[in-house]
Amino acid sequence: MPAPYPWLMPLWSRLLAMRKRLPHALLLAGPRGVGKLELAKNWARSLLCERPAPEGEACGECEGCHWFAAGTHPDFMHLTLQEKETREGEIRIASDISVEQARQAVDFVQLSTYRAGYRLVLIEPAEALNTASANALLKVLEEPPINTVFILVSHQPRQLLPTILSRCHKLEAGLPAPTALDGWLEQNGLEGKALAWTGGAPLAALEAQNEGEMETRQAVLDALSAAAGIDGLALAESWNKQLAARTWHRISYKWLLDLLACRLGGRALYNPDYQTVLSGLARLVELGKLLDFVRRESESGRWVEHPLNRQMVMEAWLIEYGRIFEGAGR
Ligand SMILES: [Zn+2]
Repeated sequence: MPAPYPWLMPLWSRLLAMRKRLPHALLLAGPRGVGKLELAKNWARSLLCERPAPEGEACGECEGCHWFAAGTHPDFMHLTLQEKETREGEIRIASDISVEQARQAVDFVQLSTYRAGYRLVLIEPAEALNTASANALLKVLEEPPINTVFILVSHQPRQLLPTILSRCHKLEAGLPAPTALDGWLEQNGLEGKALAWTGGAPLAALEAQNEGEMETRQAVLDALSAAAGIDGLALAESWNKQLAARTWHRISYKWLLDLLACRLGGRALYNPDYQTVLSGLARLVELGKLLDFVRRESESGRWVEHPLNRQMVMEAWLIEYGRIFEGAGR
């Protein structure tokens, strides 16, 4: 089993080489959408393989490999966000990894290993550990039982408790260099604008393209291109019905960031295909108002989720958006 993606080859080699001297805890950190989770799983599989290749790669055929592929390896535990049912019967993803889950992991590593090999606990996203669950894990992270390895995966390692961070050996999985994506983009039919949209994270770009976010983005941006001429009430009503709050927030926020970049004389980072429109709009923008708007928007991702006032939030956003074009540059 090779590296899951071509741009992860160098990191994959380093992971395989670590087999000779394994850390108690490894932290794989880096932006969303670069393949960290797949990399962590491949590494776990290679450690649980009972007949690894000389370089350490999993054989894909032994009992350990089969169990791992089926998600039933008795020496592997995956700690992640669980689905839970709300009182209204909706299925939601929990916002943190609970202390009960952490305690289960502590119990798990105290058992003797089933296959007399390694015992692995994958924690992802590790920033979802809350104070209680992180504290429950501290002792085993510091002095884990023999042959036990914790693998933490995180998009936001700065949110981890310092006490957790200090116990981990850290590896960075950064954004791939464009040359590392040669061939892969074509193979997957990925357009450059999707890659730009996700700031260069290839897997996030693939998801955005395959799940229709690029079309949604285009519809929203075409509407926003009308600037002060927008009908905020009508748009908010239709967007509230059609768009998930998070998608809308992501699209509108990146648009503001691009507008700001252009107003400051730079170029659009996320929406380079709208460069001409953005350059035109940037000339009409009042900088102070735009800066205020961007600053507040960066914090509003949380309350936009509330279903009752979502339409009002969008309406207010659109009204404020129209106002940043008032008064300047005319
Ligand atoms: Zn194997």
